[in-house]
Amino acid sequence: MAGAVLLALAMGLIVGSFLNVCIHRLPLRESVVWPASRCPHCRAAIAPGDNIPLIGYLRLRGRCRNCRSPISVQYPIVELTTAAIFVGAVLLVDPPLLFARLAFACAMIVLFVIDLEHRILPDVITLPGIVIGFVLSFFLPPGWRDSAIGLLVGGGVLWLMGELYFRVRGEEGMGFGDVKMLAMIGAFLGWKLMILTLMLSSFIGSIVGLGMRSHAGVAAKMFRTLADVNINIQMIATSEIKTSIVVDAKFVELAVRVLHDAFVAGQESAA
Ligand SMILES: [Zn+2]
Repeated sequence: MAGAVLLALAMGLIVGSFLNVCIHRLPLRESVVWPASRCPHCRAAIAPGDNIPLIGYLRLRGRCRNCRSPISVQYPIVELTTAAIFVGAVLLVDPPLLFARLAFACAMIVLFVIDLEHRILPDVITLPGIVIGFVLSFFLPPGWRDSAIGLLVGGGVLWLMGELYFRVRGEEGMGFGDVKMLAMIGAFLGWKLMILTLMLSSFIGSIVGLGMRSHAGVAAKMFRTLADVNINIQMIATSEIKTSIVVDAKFVELAVRVLHDAFVAGQESAA
């Protein structure tokens, strides 16, 4: 077991390092396999020894070896987060479902960080994600029926909410990127966990909103969502909840968002 955990930790750090490349290059429409990593400031190639996940960052104390400009703390955070998810998944999910869940979690990490920085959810991840999630469901849980319902309801519900919001308020409430992402979540996890994800994310969104502006309305919304989530968890608290805890990248979203905000606040106060 300890061996499996160590292997998951190492694999998670390595995969996390590749996810950083995807996060950095996909929005720029650059290849994720070529060329080798360069410092975004001075374009100096990064030596293989400095490119080791986490260790490279620690060794360089967060600064480029060549130009000394700071390296974003996002790199080690993504690596550590990916490693933590890999370890959690290995402990809670058995193969072959494990590999499907890990692929899903990786897609969600990339989507989340790109969304945080660029406010987009690239089709190059969500569209293949919908197809892969649905194809895998013929061989793995949640099964193709649950997956198909999750895909259609996930995409449909959000599309409808966005459309309604647009009709009522006359402005875009959410982009089609969210619709495709929720369809992908539905395809991978099935409709029950998709609904749980939707609830948890609105719950987490409420907490984040509460942190940003303490508002009586936000507090009321948070408590209502909390009640919803609680009922929902009890409804599906049987076998599926343990998988949902691992795969729900929305938990990770909270951690990354808080760290990101703290870091930005730190940078601003230092400047
Ligand atoms: Zn540099």
